[in-house]
Amino acid sequence: MFRISYIRVLLSALGTIVAFSCVQSPRDRVTRARFLMDTYCSITIPAAEHAQESLDAAFARMEAVERSFNVHTNTSPLYAFNKSGVPVTDSEIVTAMESVLDVCRDSGGAFDCTVFPIVDAWGFYGPHENTVPSAAHLAALRPLVNWRFIAVNRGRLVKLLPAVRVDLGGAAKGYAAHEAAKTLASSGVRSAIVDAGGNIYALGDNNGKPWRIGVQNPRDGSRIVGIIVASNTSVSTSGDYQRYFETNGVRYHHIIDPATGCPAQSGIASVTIMHPDGLYGDLLSTAVFVLGAERGGALIERMTNAGAVIVLTNGNVIVSSRMKPHYIPEKAR
Ligand code: ADP
Ligand code: MG
Repeated sequence: MFRISYIRVLLSALGTIVAFSCVQSPRDRVTRARFLMDTYCSITIPAAEHAQESLDAAFARMEAVERSFNVHTNTSPLYAFNKSGVPVTDSEIVTAMESVLDVCRDSGGAFDCTVFPIVDAWGFYGPHENTVPSAAHLAALRPLVNWRFIAVNRGRLVKLLPAVRVDLGGAAKGYAAHEAAKTLASSGVRSAIVDAGGNIYALGDNNGKPWRIGVQNPRDGSRIVGIIVASNTSVSTSGDYQRYFETNGVRYHHIIDPATGCPAQSGIASVTIMHPDGLYGDLLSTAVFVLGAERGGALIERMTNAGAVIVLTNGNVIVSSRMKPHYIPEKAR
């Protein structure tokens, strides 16, 4: 079991690959990695006098986000919310949940933060065995899944249906990466790559040049499909190759279509979103994956500050209009 989750983690950490400037030698920068939020997280910053203290502070911030946002442990107010409906008053969580609910609405429920019971039934949480739930089991759970059953009311997160449960697995890592980058910036670090399991925040620039972030080929971890050239932005990837299991030759991945209760089969293999806000980037990558290229692409075009690279299961790559100025396809390099 441990071995399986280790393989999953390695795969999920490879959603994007960052190229560091050739001008810098590895000795000029320092990287630290930790296992947090059920994934591999790393931070790379220039080697400077206070680099270790800055890394300590950034990882402490990520740990704090994990404690607040991890719905599976009682360190989070969301645990009591899920279990017994205790309203959440923590302003950080409530503010984040407002953004989460925005994306639930804007994606027409393709992202649904109440999908918890279904993800659980497929065994995608913790040490559970992965299983294909019966159609009857899924049919019984589907009425519990609807983001409209929770609301922010006078600064408190409340349930409108007692049995509903919230899951922030599709949001917390992007938020944590951006929060760690903010912590680094406030301690004087001007250049950093924070990677929380494929949810990257690229702070500042790379020796005077924009960061170059490779988008992994979802069917070949040793290759990329192209490079995103950008600075001060989040770059988040959701893919069908990050967490999955196979039964009788069928691949079941962890991004669920709330409309069917099954892994989304939208013709997408991976979605990489560029967005100034790490939380939105993470939310949108999951939402677009469920919506598919046409509806998901339209959602991204409607937004003023998001770009997307969508890799289809047939290998075709779709690049949204705001991504185009930042994207170099592999064959053109
Ligand atoms: P990762 O967690 O590997 O970075 P995502 O950001 O795409 O990938 O999030 C997937 C996680 O989000 C799942 O593990 C599950 O916890 C949750 N999830 C799955 N499907 C949905 C959905 N349709 N809406 C909201 N959350 C989802
Ligand atoms: Mg996501």
